[in-house]
Amino acid sequence: MAEADFLVIGGGLVGCAIAYGLARAGCSVLVLDGEDRDIRASRANYGIVWVQGKGLGLPPYQRWTRLSSDTWPAFAAAIEAESDVAIDYERPGGLTFCLGADEFDERSAQVRTMREELGEAEPDTCMLDRRDLQHMLPGTLLGPRVSGAVFCWRDAHVNPLLLLKALQVAIVRNGGRILTGRPVDGLIAGNGSFTAVTGSDRHRGKQVVIAAGTAAPGIARHVGLNVPVRPQRGQILVTERLAPILPMPTVPIRQTAEGTVLIGSTQEEVGFDTGATGEAAARMAARAIEILPALRDAVVVRQWAGLRVMSPDVAPIYVQSERHPGAWAATCHSGVTLAAAHALHLAPAIAQGVLPDELSFFHPRRFDVSQAA
Ligand SMILES: Cc1cc2nc3c(=O)[nH]c(=O)nc-3n(C[C@H](O)[C@H](O)[C@H](O)COP(=O)(O)OP(=O)(O)OC[C@H]3O[C@@H](n4cnc5c(N)ncnc54)[C@H](O)[C@@H]3O)c2cc1C
Repeated sequence: MAEADFLVIGGGLVGCAIAYGLARAGCSVLVLDGEDRDIRASRANYGIVWVQGKGLGLPPYQRWTRLSSDTWPAFAAAIEAESDVAIDYERPGGLTFCLGADEFDERSAQVRTMREELGEAEPDTCMLDRRDLQHMLPGTLLGPRVSGAVFCWRDAHVNPLLLLKALQVAIVRNGGRILTGRPVDGLIAGNGSFTAVTGSDRHRGKQVVIAAGTAAPGIARHVGLNVPVRPQRGQILVTERLAPILPMPTVPIRQTAEGTVLIGSTQEEVGFDTGATGEAAARMAARAIEILPALRDAVVVRQWAGLRVMSPDVAPIYVQSERHPGAWAATCHSGVTLAAAHALHLAPAIAQGVLPDELSFFHPRRFDVSQAA
């Protein structure tokens, strides 16, 4: 049994971004991914690299998200060059639409609070009233109730499926290996290495990174790690291809490079239920039409639901086991946005064996009630 420097458990966006970063840092990497029908947020998401609104009350998360956004252009260029897969990354800024005065006031207060929490840092987010918004979107007919929007110049979008494919190709071209259909059902620590059990197979690594999304808690327990994440359902609608109607990604409407329009997404606490519902479709479509009345005539061609990987305070979890040093866990609810930071900042730190101070906030000890008291 050959021993890799790192086993990475989970071949979604988080596992692949870290595996890519580790392989690039010169480590030998084996990614073990689960079954075809596993839950995969990485194949069900909206594709935005989103800074605005991330980290309310959590300035370290605001700073981490900004760092990722600023790393994204170099990251996108690197994985495109190393994989020959174009990922449709664009950074035109992004908008969150407001309907009515209350929503506008609520968003304005949130933008103000987040600015204050960030301190001296240069603001990247501002409110646009309806007139300014129309100025930014000169060819777009806005619904009468649109009162304005939040604008953040750091926001961007990408094709998330091509991103995952590019990462997988780049891992292999950097010398890494990916095995699919290998659900890890045991993880044994001993003699300075880790053995992952997948059915009758064994795979050994000097270190292990658990990045299995909503399945991470059960695997992490084998090495004494507490990773308290839960599933949160998000549903998305997709229209037929349309002529260009929006020059930038927005919440809740994003036009892809191919012309389809994504409308999303819900935030539902329904456990591991991945069903799509008519009620959510009607609600999302109604709001989208209120914002862009032109969507009234668009044909919806698909609807799906995915499960976010949600921690109690929404921020990521990064941790190394104290009982079994060399065992790491990483989860987040924003794996597209943070892909650049995971690949080019988190992975090199893991390769060095220690997380920098700015990532200490993301240790799960923050959820420990006795610590907080
Ligand atoms: C509707 C929706 C919209 C979203 N929109 C955005 C967005 O616009 N921008 C953004 O940044 N984020 C977005 N997200 C979140 C983003 O998709 C996730 O943060 C990200 O995909 C999480 O990746 P992951 O690798 O942690 O988990 P997953 O994608 O869930 O992957 C987990 C992987 O672990 C594997 N696995 C599970 N169990 C085992 C096991 N026992 N052994 C081996 N492997 C195992 C699975 O096979 C799977 O490949 C959205 C999510 C949803 C649901």
